Amino acid sequence: MSGSLLVDNIGELVTNGIGEGPLGIRRDAAVLVEEGRVAWVGPSAHAPAADRRVDAEGAAVLPGFVDSHAHLVFAGDRAAEFAARMAGQPYTGGGIRTTVGATRAASDDELRATVRRLRAEALRQGTTTMEIKSGYGLTVADEARSLRIAAESSTETTFLGAHVVPAEYADRPDDYVELVCGPMLTAAAPHAKWVDVFCERGAFDVDHARAILVSGQAAGLGVRIHANQLGPGGGVQLGVELGAASVDHCTHLSDADVAALVGTAHSDGSGTHTVATLLPGAEFSTRSPYPDARRLLDAGVTVALATDCNPGSSYTSSMPFCVALAVREMRMTPAEAVWAATVGGARALRRTDIGVLTPGARADLIVLDAPSYLHLAYRPGVPLIRQVMRNGVPQ
Ligand SMILES: [Zn+2]
Repeated sequence: MSGSLLVDNIGELVTNGIGEGPLGIRRDAAVLVEEGRVAWVGPSAHAPAADRRVDAEGAAVLPGFVDSHAHLVFAGDRAAEFAARMAGQPYTGGGIRTTVGATRAASDDELRATVRRLRAEALRQGTTTMEIKSGYGLTVADEARSLRIAAESSTETTFLGAHVVPAEYADRPDDYVELVCGPMLTAAAPHAKWVDVFCERGAFDVDHARAILVSGQAAGLGVRIHANQLGPGGGVQLGVELGAASVDHCTHLSDADVAALVGTAHSDGSGTHTVATLLPGAEFSTRSPYPDARRLLDAGVTVALATDCNPGSSYTSSMPFCVALAVREMRMTPAEAVWAATVGGARALRRTDIGVLTPGARADLIVLDAPSYLHLAYRPGVPLIRQVMRNGVPQ
């Protein structure tokens, strides 16, 4: 769509840039969009003319959500496992193998349909950028095709061949790690931007994780890691050691883990180079204790929120739901949670062109059916996303 577009009559504009408070809020504002980018931000009364106009009617406008952690390439679901867990059985991560079997048996078109369905579902809830991981194929061919299909829906694709050791390698995990670092990585890398490992007891230990992440780096991929979700371990510190963009979950952290993250702080005070991405949908859906967001925020660590959308431990695509959980259950303020769900996610993907609404940024924005961002946590479970634009194009 060509020509300029003006969104005006914005009652409360969250810029995450210049304005009031940590969210950079402007009142009675307007945003001019040209060629998919924010061209101007200012008072609605002084807005320039444009080819087209969207009247926000006094509502709040925010940057689109950036969901930096999602597993969308899979087949089947695990509703029965969820029911069993809610009836008292613990979550161990072992159910991943159930989804691996279903994914391997699925056709490309079946996988593609699931990715598109979930991506569209998230978009309706305001997610304008969504990272997508592989990790339910766990063969050279199935990981490569998972990433090929993921890349049709996102530029933020992540190779997670090290999600779990597949059943056929159960008694020889070293051989599986060799496969991941060798032929699987070679087949996956052309379709991936990131490499990730589920570093956890029962999945991959620190030595295996290091070998895989270092191989991924050598192939040109950026590093992210599933760390310290189910118990304490060396995942967070390994992520920091390797310069990871993000360490994800962070549910069980030692003082040394927090100190390691703080040690990655930028000298300009803009936060930490390695982001701690919290995934409260996983704790909600596995009925587990939530990560201590306040401890991280008070220490100065950059925090992101993401859905962890996957069929086992967190089958939600809703960033507003995660914002509400973060506020109610993790003691984040509404402003901290909205920051973490937008620009925090952008930092976790090392992106500066999204998560903000300042001149030059991508015109990815959402218009709420509410006068303030506060309503995202204040009115949980309510569909408050009135309109979504990506690259300035109404969706
Ligand atoms: Zn995950």
